[in-house]
Amino acid sequence: MSVETYDVIVVGLGGVGSSAAYHLAKTGQRVLGLDLYHPPHVHGSSHGRTRVIRQAYFEHPSYVPLLKRAYRGWDEVERASGEIVFHRTGLIEVGPEDGVVIPGVRSSAKQYELPIEEFTMADAMQRYPGIAGPSDWRVIREVNAGCLDVERCVQTHLSLAENLGAALRYGEPMVSWETQPASVSVVTDRARYQAGSLVLAGGPWANEWLASHGIPLKILRKHLYWFQVTDQTYDEPAFPCYFFETPRGHFYGTPHDPGVGLKLARHSGGQVVESMQGQQHRPDEYDQQLCQDFISVCLPAASTTLSQWAGCYYTCTPDENFVVDTLPDSPQVTLVAGLSGHGFKFTSALGAVAAELVDRKVDRQAIDFLSVKRFLDPSP
Ligand SMILES: Cc1cc2nc3c(=O)[nH]c(=O)nc-3n(C[C@H](O)[C@H](O)[C@H](O)COP(=O)(O)OP(=O)(O)OC[C@H]3O[C@@H](n4cnc5c(N)ncnc54)[C@H](O)[C@@H]3O)c2cc1C
Repeated sequence: MSVETYDVIVVGLGGVGSSAAYHLAKTGQRVLGLDLYHPPHVHGSSHGRTRVIRQAYFEHPSYVPLLKRAYRGWDEVERASGEIVFHRTGLIEVGPEDGVVIPGVRSSAKQYELPIEEFTMADAMQRYPGIAGPSDWRVIREVNAGCLDVERCVQTHLSLAENLGAALRYGEPMVSWETQPASVSVVTDRARYQAGSLVLAGGPWANEWLASHGIPLKILRKHLYWFQVTDQTYDEPAFPCYFFETPRGHFYGTPHDPGVGLKLARHSGGQVVESMQGQQHRPDEYDQQLCQDFISVCLPAASTTLSQWAGCYYTCTPDENFVVDTLPDSPQVTLVAGLSGHGFKFTSALGAVAAELVDRKVDRQAIDFLSVKRFLDPSP
C-alpha cells in the first residue's frame, strides 16, 4: 500500500472539520480531509436547516470571547464566499426570573456589554403576539442573535478549503490511527496516510475514538420538528428565534420557514445511544408530545400538526462544555469534540482554534475551560 503524506489530516468534515480544513488550508498547510459520508449530510449533528447563534451566553460567560470570534468567522465566510449563512433575526429568551436562562443571559450581557432588551411577559406578548407564558416570566431580546443556515455553512467551509488546495475525500472513513514521536498515520478503507498532525472532528463518532484516552462522551438521540402555521405570526422579521425555559424543559426554534413550517426542538432530554455503529434516526412519541404541548401553551398561534421531522445527535461531555485541546501524551493530535448540543454556532471559531493548536500558537488560557485535563484530573 503506497503512503501519501500531508502536513495535516482532518478526520470528519462536518461542522467542525469543514471549518478546520478551511483554516488549516489558509495557513498554507497541505491538508487532507476525510469523511465517512459526503457532508453536509443527515447522519450526524450538522443538518436540519438552521442553528441558533447568540452571544449573551447563559451557559458560561467564558464562551463569549469565543463567540465574538465566531461572529467574525461567519462574517469572513460570507465575505470570502459571497454566500449568506447568517440570518440576523434576533432572539427572545423567555423564562422565570430565578431560572438558569434569564439570569445567565443578563450576566453575560452585562459582563461583555452585549445589547439586550428586557420585557415583562405582558409587554413581550404585545410585541410578539405569537408567544404566551405565565405573567411572572421575563423576556430578554438579544439583538445580535439569529440563525445559521447549517448545511450552507458546512458546504461553504468545504468549498473554501478546497479552493485553497485542501484534498477532501468523501466516503473514505478512517479505520484506525496511530501516533509516532512527531507524526501520525491514518489508515482508511483504501489507503494509508502520513502527516505531521491530526485533527479529530468526528462529532458523535468521536466517542469511540476518545474513550480509551479517558474522555467521556455521551451520545444523545435528539429530534427536530417543523409545525404547520396558518398565518404570518411567526414570519421574519416580526418574529425572531426563540428559547424558552419551562418547567418541562428547554425548548427553542427559528422563525417560520416558508414551505416547511415553524421549527421547534427540545434542548433538554434525549435518549442515550451507545455507539453510532448501525444507527438510524427514529421518531420519539414522548418527545414529540412534549413539543406539541409546548406549542399549545407557549406558541398558541401555531398548529400542533407536524409538517416535517428530523433526527440528529448531541455529543455531550459530563459538564456540557466542549473538548478543544491536544491529546496530553500526543500534542500532534488535536481534538474538537463533545459540542454538547450547543456548538454549531462556534464552528467558524473552533476551526481557527484547531489550526492554532496544530501550529502550537494557540492562546491556551482562552480555552482552558475546554481542556482534556478536567477529565483526567478533576478538581475535588
Ligand atoms: C437537534 C440539534 C439541534 C442543535 N441546535 C443547535 C443550535 O441551535 N445552535 C448550536 O450552536 N448548536 C446546535 N446543535 C449542536 C451542533 O449542531 C453540533 O454540536 C455540531 O453540529 C457538531 O458538529 P461536529 O462537527 O462535531 O459533528 P458532525 O457535523 O456530525 O461531523 C462529524 C463528521 O465526522 C464524520 N465521520 C464519522 N466517522 C468518521 C470516520 N471514521 N472517518 C471519517 N469521517 C468520519 C461524519 O460523517 C461527520 O461528517 C444542535 C444539534 C442537534 C443534533
